[in-house]
Amino acid sequence: MKAELSQLIALQNADTDIRRLQAEIESIPERRAEIEKEFERRTFEIRALEERRDAAFHERARLEKEIFDQKQRAERADRNLMAAKKPDEYTAAIREADAARKQISAFETQILEQMEIFDQAEKELKERAPEVENLRVDLEARLKAFDDEAQTRQNQLEQARAGREQVMNELPKAMSMLYKRIASRIRDGVAMAEARNGACMACYMSLRPQIMADVRRGEEVITCDNCNRILYYAPEKKAQPVGV
Ligand SMILES: [Zn+2]
Repeated sequence: MKAELSQLIALQNADTDIRRLQAEIESIPERRAEIEKEFERRTFEIRALEERRDAAFHERARLEKEIFDQKQRAERADRNLMAAKKPDEYTAAIREADAARKQISAFETQILEQMEIFDQAEKELKERAPEVENLRVDLEARLKAFDDEAQTRQNQLEQARAGREQVMNELPKAMSMLYKRIASRIRDGVAMAEARNGACMACYMSLRPQIMADVRRGEEVITCDNCNRILYYAPEKKAQPVGV
């Protein structure tokens, strides 16, 4: 086959590789996020437990602040009681102190409830810690493998680009121009088409026997009348019979 034709095929292969690698690289963030999402789905119950524990912690802090306020209210009522001169002042102070202490008692009960919720959540989290740890290790291993794979793709892309550059530079100007012109006009950017079984494998248009024979000889650059791609012939690789 004419050297230029095999260079064009090499160019086409490089371009196909580049497009495939670019598509893979573009989809990396989405696929990586999918791995993380799956981890989040699998640890959903754990996060619900953590949220319950944290909510109990904050609720307890809020109740303690309430108790602090009610204690001040009770102390104020006690002072009013000491200073009371009239029976109605006396009664009001006692009522106020009682109300404050009832509130304190109610808040204390609520604190106990929150402590129980907190302890229960903590206990479950502790029990499930090994399970979470396994999931985390699994996630990290998967992300690591994924990132390595992504890096490999990136390296392959750079290699493919360098290879393409080299082929492009070696190709006669007229050939590279022809290739670029066809590739830019065709939607998928594939400028080469295999001719097989008397047809163009890109557009499936039948090729006249003479064209097929010329393509098979590979001595000149022939384009498909229908899709304008450069035709090439790839001899079929037949498996060698064993023992022959
Ligand atoms: Zn065609």
